[in-house]
Amino acid sequence: MKRISEMYRISGGTDYTHLCNECRNLRIEKKKFICRLHQQAGGSGDWKPQFIACRLFNLTLPDKYKNKSCREQAGSENEITGEQMELKEFMEM
Ligand code: SF4
Repeated sequence: MKRISEMYRISGGTDYTHLCNECRNLRIEKKKFICRLHQQAGGSGDWKPQFIACRLFNLTLPDKYKNKSCREQAGSENEITGEQMELKEFMEM
């Protein structure tokens, strides 16, 4: 799963009125862009400022997602529900 998709899942969707480069959670570290919230959720890797913003635009990460990797969360949620997101649901995010 793409890193930005993980943030869309965590935040509950997209904010089409903004880009990540307008968000205060976008930082530069060692000449690379990073999403501070994605890092706090256990993610890694650089970020693209031109991504469509997630719904945590300019907000903080909910406590339940802190210190747990995004992939771990995705795995545990899938285990619990045993469901996979429908394309229609994804398009509505
Ligand atoms: S909108 Fe902000 S919090 Fe959301 S993915 Fe972009 S940089 Fe991260």
